[in-house]
Amino acid sequence: MRRWSELAERVAATTRTSEKTGLLADYLRTLDADELPIAVVFLTGRPFPEADQRATGIGWATIANALGQVSGTDRADLAAAYDRFSDLSAAVGDVLERAGHEPDPERSPSLVEVAAAFTAIEAASGPARKSHLLAALLARADPRTARGIVRVLSGELRIGLREGLVEAALAKAFDRPLDAVKRAGMLTGDIGRTATLARAGNLDGAALALFHPLKFMLASPAEDATEIMTRLGPTVWVEDKYDGIRCQLHREGTTVRLYSRDLHDISSGFPEIVAAARDLPWAGILDGEILAWRDGTVLPFIALQSRIGRKDPSAAILADVPVIFVAWDVLGLDEPGRPGAGGGSARDGVVAPTLELPLTERRRLLEHLDLPLASEGGGFALSHLSEATSTDELETAFTEARGRRNEGLMVKDPTSTYSPGRRGYGWLKMKKALATIDCVVVGVEVGHGKRHGILSDYTFAVRDESRDQLVTIGKAYSGLTDAEIATMTRWFDEHTISHYGRYRVVEPTVVVEVAFDVILRSNRHKSGFALRFPRIARLRLDKDPREADTLQTVTRLYEGLQAGAEHLVTAGARRAHVGREPA
Ligand code: AMP
Repeated sequence: MRRWSELAERVAATTRTSEKTGLLADYLRTLDADELPIAVVFLTGRPFPEADQRATGIGWATIANALGQVSGTDRADLAAAYDRFSDLSAAVGDVLERAGHEPDPERSPSLVEVAAAFTAIEAASGPARKSHLLAALLARADPRTARGIVRVLSGELRIGLREGLVEAALAKAFDRPLDAVKRAGMLTGDIGRTATLARAGNLDGAALALFHPLKFMLASPAEDATEIMTRLGPTVWVEDKYDGIRCQLHREGTTVRLYSRDLHDISSGFPEIVAAARDLPWAGILDGEILAWRDGTVLPFIALQSRIGRKDPSAAILADVPVIFVAWDVLGLDEPGRPGAGGGSARDGVVAPTLELPLTERRRLLEHLDLPLASEGGGFALSHLSEATSTDELETAFTEARGRRNEGLMVKDPTSTYSPGRRGYGWLKMKKALATIDCVVVGVEVGHGKRHGILSDYTFAVRDESRDQLVTIGKAYSGLTDAEIATMTRWFDEHTISHYGRYRVVEPTVVVEVAFDVILRSNRHKSGFALRFPRIARLRLDKDPREADTLQTVTRLYEGLQAGAEHLVTAGARRAHVGREPA
């Protein structure tokens, strides 16, 4: 683990991509078969592979506690160090150094031991037991190794690594074609498994396995119809943008599993969809959305909310909020040539990938699956699809989608392939009058008046990809419901890193969708931008902070706004579609 930590620091010290790749490749080549998958998963900033359901359940408080057990320091020491570095791993290393922590180098934990400790921490119940296990691990780690451990645990790698870079390093380390590494990564959805295949020279062995969720393809926000047509035209595919729960459905034989966008198994929460998919004559994987639906109409998202996070819904809830699965994509099938020819069972749990086919072809396959439609008493629907060749047609489609009570449009390039985990330009979302951006809450403040004692003012940030850092972009009085604010107040209370008077720095893990009127250049915030009339449209607890929008996206939206001064007028006139106005 010490070598991993050293490598992470060397990678962080250079901004040059080629140098990062070179350092990584040299390091990866030296690892044995057991160490390699662990090292690469850690390099992506996670203690477990992404599609793994497990999470260590460790937050700032547990880390502070464990550190106290090892070094005799208290939370205030860690908070003071954090204020100096704005980085939890650096702060932990600093506290240990100052406390003169010098364990026997012979007992320094190996990568395999650290991975085993993370497994034990995940399995342990309660923060006391977890911090005890972490303390035992940190006790054996010198400050630098401890920095590495905390980097992985806190998910704040900050070494400027994206998965693409790790893939490039694997290609270089084992002298394999980059495309083959990327393809294996796409199919397995597991960088550790990809590394093992690359090392063994068996990248062709990567398969699309059922019941291992793939990352979801993401959409980029588009500012308006003109931008969409410029990027994707001359002919675009236009689907309604449904406001439900993103879901990947896997089925084979009588087994059906549903996965949420954070790749968790949510099957038990939606028994009617599982039942509807049980008797289909094919094995495969669909992408779509779970929607609340009654008598041929979509119910508002708020209805669906009572089913989110509920494992075994009661008969009353099932009757109250019926759901269906709206499908828009097919990612793998037993017999893509003739859907259904496989008779519903896949060989060795593996299906043929269809995600590399163009969307036109995938849609054709989807339509041939003959899903039992909700309109005929079944549990499925297909996304509403049309074609547009002009901005006028897009605007009309937008109005019609809103008329069907959907959020807006998802505009797709008909030639595009399905790229898991990527937020590319193959899919563009046209939601409200203006785009919203997903930001990470980095600070909170107690409110005034009626909100006294409640953490209701949020400072939020976007990701600067080039520096792998969060940069603040605005502050808004929360537009959330009182119940949400109360829950979040408790959460932020438990995840406060440090206090500055009324302002608290909090763990940067909560994503909020922020609506605004205009983006302005401003020195007020670290991003160099400010939002006019920012308001929190909703909490996005389903999103990982890594999925927050980037400074690069904000810059693009800003440039788009500059390009049409006329647009500023429109933007002003169309404000306040979502959330509440700031107090
Ligand atoms: P957002 O959550 O605002 O980033 O928008 C992306 C989400 O829109 C996806 O994750 C899906 O859950 C949802 N969505 C709704 N309708 C569609 C559609 N027709 N195609 C793809 N994604 C859709």
